[in-house]
Amino acid sequence: MPGKRAGRAGIDRPAALAYIGIMNINALPKVELHRHVEGAIRYATMKEWVLEDRLISRDATEEELRDFILITKPVDGLKVFLEKFGLIHRVLTGADRIRRMAREACEDAHAEGVRVLELRYSPVFIQGERQNLTFDQIHGALLDGLSDAKKTCPMAAGLIGILGREWDLPTASRATEFFIANRDTVIGMDLANDEANFTGSRFAGLFRKAREAGLHLTVHAGESDIPTSSQSIRSALEELGAERIGHGVQIYKDPALMDDVARRGILLELCPTSNLLTRSIASMDAYPIRQLRAAGIRVSLNADDPGVFDYDLNHEYRAMADLHGLDEADFAAINRDALASSFLPEKEKRNALGG
Ligand SMILES: [Zn+2]
Repeated sequence: MPGKRAGRAGIDRPAALAYIGIMNINALPKVELHRHVEGAIRYATMKEWVLEDRLISRDATEEELRDFILITKPVDGLKVFLEKFGLIHRVLTGADRIRRMAREACEDAHAEGVRVLELRYSPVFIQGERQNLTFDQIHGALLDGLSDAKKTCPMAAGLIGILGREWDLPTASRATEFFIANRDTVIGMDLANDEANFTGSRFAGLFRKAREAGLHLTVHAGESDIPTSSQSIRSALEELGAERIGHGVQIYKDPALMDDVARRGILLELCPTSNLLTRSIASMDAYPIRQLRAAGIRVSLNADDPGVFDYDLNHEYRAMADLHGLDEADFAAINRDALASSFLPEKEKRNALGG
């Protein structure tokens, strides 16, 4: 008899449906455009490194380790989230670990059915206070990790460079120049973090420069549930020239903006459970994916930070299938749109999906 069972991240779904979903969904070839490379760090690896570096007692229980490393329940504000990322950055002590993290992030995504993967990162965050770890070393180690993974996991994978909204202009400028100088191996530029307190307008000149140098542009906007979410999305489109919007979920409150985004073919990089865990949406039942698609908006489905949130991309597909009735035809359309909007070179991304 099908009963209810609690899924990860507090999602209830009928057990029978979930079983059918797992069988079909895992095998779907997927295009994922929004996954942070540090946020995708493998939990087992994170455990190994925090223990090795003695950041937690060697006697810590599994429950204590999970609590130390992961976010599995909705959290208020950015503080807890930034703490978890701070911990990841502490263990990224050198090129070897960065390379392994990137390889495992690709391997894990591949195991989830991802065949076209865009990973994003900021050299400024990974470097932190370690002046002996250069941007070049960080970027090189990530690229090595991607190449290592591709030997056993055939896929297209590329790196997007992130600027932080809270940065001062010289820091943002230094990172932008680095991305431009490495445009052969950086496919795009992004803006992330606190959109409640920092507008992106200050960085308009840097985004223009990046675009003129041939980098694609995406911006985290309309993620937080704040009164200025529409302005944040408009600023990303008009002032920064974003071709895609990271999250953008709050757009459902603004019909005029929805029409505009649909008409312009802008793709939203949706990350449903991430939004639940950061309280950007009230519940997975309330996630407006049907409303957005019915308005003609192109969307992709993404895991965002699966290593911090303890779920994978298939969890997101299952949630959309079980709670919102999306079927294989819907997922095929979503992945077609994601493929068309991917910043990876045309030939590489088509090859990865078999032409
Ligand atoms: Zn993100």
